Amino acid sequence: MEVRVLGAYGGRFGSFGTTCLQIDENTLIDAGNIMRALGEECLKINNILLTHAHLDHIVDIPFMIDYTFRFREQPLNIYGHRETIKAVKEHVMNWNIWPEFSSIRLINSGDYAVNYVELEPEKGFELNSFQILPFLSNHTITTLSYVVKREGRGFLFTGDTFTNPRIWEILNEDREIKVLITEVSYPSYMHNLAEVSKHHTPKTLAQELEHLKRNDVEVYVMHLKPNSLKELKEEIKEVLPSVKILSDGDEIII
Ligand SMILES: [Zn+2]
Ligand SMILES: [Zn+2]
Repeated sequence: MEVRVLGAYGGRFGSFGTTCLQIDENTLIDAGNIMRALGEECLKINNILLTHAHLDHIVDIPFMIDYTFRFREQPLNIYGHRETIKAVKEHVMNWNIWPEFSSIRLINSGDYAVNYVELEPEKGFELNSFQILPFLSNHTITTLSYVVKREGRGFLFTGDTFTNPRIWEILNEDREIKVLITEVSYPSYMHNLAEVSKHHTPKTLAQELEHLKRNDVEVYVMHLKPNSLKELKEEIKEVLPSVKILSDGDEIII
């Protein structure tokens, strides 16, 4: 399995893209950086699994559906917790901010352009050839983390998260998960801001990682805030020496 990191950062600045992972040619997790990263390849995307409705994770959905609409033969399936879907429907694709594409039929088929699929935490399902398990994260709004596996190997993607015992329970139990992709957003001296916005600092992630009872899991971090990038990279090197920092365009082979 190959995961392409289309967007790795917790904010937009210069050419940095926000959270967006590609797990096969049709499927993304989060939609922070589709258009710039994929160009014409965005025409192949039919499935987007959303962690939550914060802007940095959904920002390219409106532009993507707008660009691909006239070429599409299949709807864009948007998967997420019912609260995430409700937020996207009520606050973004609502005719005020952007057209409500779930009520517009495609030109090339009778299907609606967008199809929303509600996911239940802890209820696994199959998508293409992936086995996917969504579970609740600990963030300021309802957020799903995902375990994604294919042919007995896979990864756990926390999305935005603060401390969450469920991550370590799953990782310690399921040895088919070879990779953890999680987040560090702020340097440790900003711990008050991190705590109130439910994000990790290098120190809080280091404390959390003590719950991991395996040494065969590769750990990657993303969602670094671009305005703190230099100090974050230095601190992660010091506090989390075995953890790799993801950048836009990276690929993880699992
Ligand atoms: Zn975020
Ligand atoms: Zn968030």
